[in-house]
Amino acid sequence: MFRDPARAPSASSRRRDVASVRSVTRSKRNPAAHGKIHSTVSGRYVFDFDESTEGGKEHLGGKGAGLAEMTALGVPVPAGFTITTDACRDYSEAAEFPEGLDAEIDEHIAVLEHRTEKRFGDPRDPLLVSVRSGAAVSMPGMMDSILNLGLNDDAVEGLASATGNERFAYDSYRRLIQMYGDVVDGIDGDRFEQALAAMKKERGVQQDVDLSAEDLKQLVATFKELYERETGSSFPQDAREQLGRAVRAVFDSWDNPRATVYRRAHHIADDLGTAVNVVQMVFGNKGDRSGTGVAFTRDPSTGEAGLYGEFLANAQGEDVVAGIRTPRPLDEMRTRLPEAFEQLVATMRRLEEHYQDMQDIEFTVEDDRLYLLQTRAAKRTAAAALKAAVEMVDEGLISKEEAVTRIDPAQLDQLLHPMLDPSADYEVAAKGLNASPGAASGKIVLDADTAARQGESEPVILVGWETSPDDIHGMIAAQGILTAHGGMTSHAAVVARGMGKPCVAGCEELVIDAEKRRVRIGRHDLAEGDVITIDGATGIVIAGPVELVPPQINDDFETILGWADEYRALQVRANADTPEDAVRAREFGAQGIGLCRTEHMFMAEERLPIVREMIMAGGEDERRGALEKLQPMQQSDFEGIFEAMAGLPVTIRLLDPPLHEFLPTLEEATDDRMRERIKALHETNPMLGTRGCRLGLLWPEIYEMQVRAIIRAAVAVEERTGEAPLVEIMHPLVGFAEELHRLRAITIAAANEESEDVEYLVGTMIELPRACIRADEIAEHADFFSFGTNDLTQTTLGLSRDDAEGKFLTRYLEDGVLERNPFETLDQSGVGDLMRIAVERGRSTKEDIKLGICGEHGGEPESVAFCHRLGLAYVSCSPYRVPLARLAAAQAALAEEGAAYVAAGG
Ligand code: PEP
Ligand code: MG
Repeated sequence: MFRDPARAPSASSRRRDVASVRSVTRSKRNPAAHGKIHSTVSGRYVFDFDESTEGGKEHLGGKGAGLAEMTALGVPVPAGFTITTDACRDYSEAAEFPEGLDAEIDEHIAVLEHRTEKRFGDPRDPLLVSVRSGAAVSMPGMMDSILNLGLNDDAVEGLASATGNERFAYDSYRRLIQMYGDVVDGIDGDRFEQALAAMKKERGVQQDVDLSAEDLKQLVATFKELYERETGSSFPQDAREQLGRAVRAVFDSWDNPRATVYRRAHHIADDLGTAVNVVQMVFGNKGDRSGTGVAFTRDPSTGEAGLYGEFLANAQGEDVVAGIRTPRPLDEMRTRLPEAFEQLVATMRRLEEHYQDMQDIEFTVEDDRLYLLQTRAAKRTAAAALKAAVEMVDEGLISKEEAVTRIDPAQLDQLLHPMLDPSADYEVAAKGLNASPGAASGKIVLDADTAARQGESEPVILVGWETSPDDIHGMIAAQGILTAHGGMTSHAAVVARGMGKPCVAGCEELVIDAEKRRVRIGRHDLAEGDVITIDGATGIVIAGPVELVPPQINDDFETILGWADEYRALQVRANADTPEDAVRAREFGAQGIGLCRTEHMFMAEERLPIVREMIMAGGEDERRGALEKLQPMQQSDFEGIFEAMAGLPVTIRLLDPPLHEFLPTLEEATDDRMRERIKALHETNPMLGTRGCRLGLLWPEIYEMQVRAIIRAAVAVEERTGEAPLVEIMHPLVGFAEELHRLRAITIAAANEESEDVEYLVGTMIELPRACIRADEIAEHADFFSFGTNDLTQTTLGLSRDDAEGKFLTRYLEDGVLERNPFETLDQSGVGDLMRIAVERGRSTKEDIKLGICGEHGGEPESVAFCHRLGLAYVSCSPYRVPLARLAAAQAALAEEGAAYVAAGG
């Protein structure tokens, strides 16, 4: 008997106005999109931190907007101004400074001079500034910044006498020449580093801080010579000229290779551009009453409330970020600089309350005076994001809805990554900082290029003294990252946390011999290519592989997902082919199975010969003989799945084999008849050949066998458990209504022969453009549609799902022809539009037709949001992505009410 589709859980209550689904396209460097922005922000390019502007982050960048907001709050920040992203875009379009920008900068320099009571380029007590990049979306370390700008041969003397610290003045000057030479004139930074190292060797000292004022004076002379040799002109002495060239260089750094790679990896549009912040320099390296640090309002690894951060006395911020010196725990500042510390703690509390989110703060203390240089939503691990969100709800700081919209669904993945097997036996070779959680085993690789290459085919761990933004491609390809230097806020740590990759940083027992391509980890002498294991949750490093286990899901995870379930309209099912997968899917909260691919059941070793016998059969009788052997096997598979999903719907898709996956090769043929049959069945393009329901229509006895096995399994499970499974029988690759018409008849006839008592639905995958367009006709014969967006993407775009990603599609993505991989994120304006047509037309025939999606896109957050807007009843995805889909579905529902997910750190 049929289950009346009208009795199936109705989708109508969740239906959205399909017309409201918008297709989003974003044109690159589209003048229509940007040409008018200039006039919308008061026709200006430059804003002081204390000026109000309507532009927000998009125009001022995250850093600029933060500085402006902190200034408005009365938090101590240095004075300065922001050159907007409009200026960057106009500059890169015209390849020159936009008209009026120079004059605006002059005006704002004048204001800054007035405020600080110092003059730019003054040889007595000069105004010095930093020139810092800052895009709307955080891209840590990807673009360039320059510090100490404004120093020259005279001003350095002025700074020395104004501060009474000659050493500090010359150290600042040599840093400027080095940074300026590198960023503005492209001089290899190593050239300066080598000169610095040579000087330290000559003086017999280990640390930069051990160099005297005289040494640094000499180093400045060496750096200036180097600059002149490399550029053909002397180091610019005019501060205003320095500033103009620095601003240009920061604009240019938006398009440098590492920033471009980072944007691709994080799906950040190329046309945003960066703002430039010109900020009064404050000095953390002025002596013992000074210092610099980074502080978080909660632990970014665990989310625990409390003070967390790092501090380095008598240093500039870049020493910390670059991992050149390993910083001390923030708590040490309490005793060294008690007043500034108290002020910092109070300010942190204030900022978290103001932003209602965990903050990541950069600060500097100059002669006991605290300055905040930056605040932003802290990048955090998934575990920390969950804990902080749950606790902030408990503290009454945010609502449950806000907590749910705060979590990046993709980040949940981190929690689902492997950990070291607690019962495994291993010896800890070394210990570093637990910079980013998760465990990974892989071959040692010693540079990013090798990691990027080798990481494509096997697991690798990128091992280095530290990482720099240039290593981003290697970090993406590696399973994990291990560095000898650097703290929790070093580049490696920050980037790895953002990527959800295991990272152990600051591992002092790691020594690298780059020339011999060998490393020493504790007492182990290893070569590149040897396997190591790292655990980023504890910071331990092990020589050799270690068993990994799937992670446990904690209470915070359950709490947030429980809240998410209160808001979402979409049901979430899983794609599962085995009882084990079905059990895991339920543990993750799946509400049924949206796709059970039966061809996977045919692949098992003991079954393949029978499947081949069936395919190679000369006639129907022979084929039925093979099918009889397969039927009990299929039945037991289905019984296992029905039992695991007791009471929840299970969609079983009848055989959809690309035939070539089952065919023996010609070499395997044992006789001429077999050889002839293989040749006859051979197809040049099997993915568009005898696949899906075409096979069912050619050889109906196969589908009949499967239907019988399903019905028998349903009867057996109901008898055994007392619970009738909710069976949905699905036909693949239907393009014509007549196909489904016939298949439905075959299905019903076979089912009725087995039992008249089992309720089931008959439906179809929608995975061909024709099926979308003629969905009204197909709906006549379908109780449900399930969008197979893998094939629908392949057939709509004419891109082979097997080949494109490894080939030209990669180039398309690199070159920005496409912004997203359409096999990963639904092509909403193309494939999505066809889905919209199918929904409209399907419903025009059958208002309550059940609609879902089972392509890979069912577990990708943006695609899930699209499915929500389309008014589908459910999404179905791999078991591990079920939690992510639950959260994404809730966020989509909340977004309709205006609460959009905002990426942390943006
Ligand atoms: C699809 O095409 O989206 C689908 C789910 O089917 P398969 O991946 O098995 O072709
Ligand atoms: Mg398919």
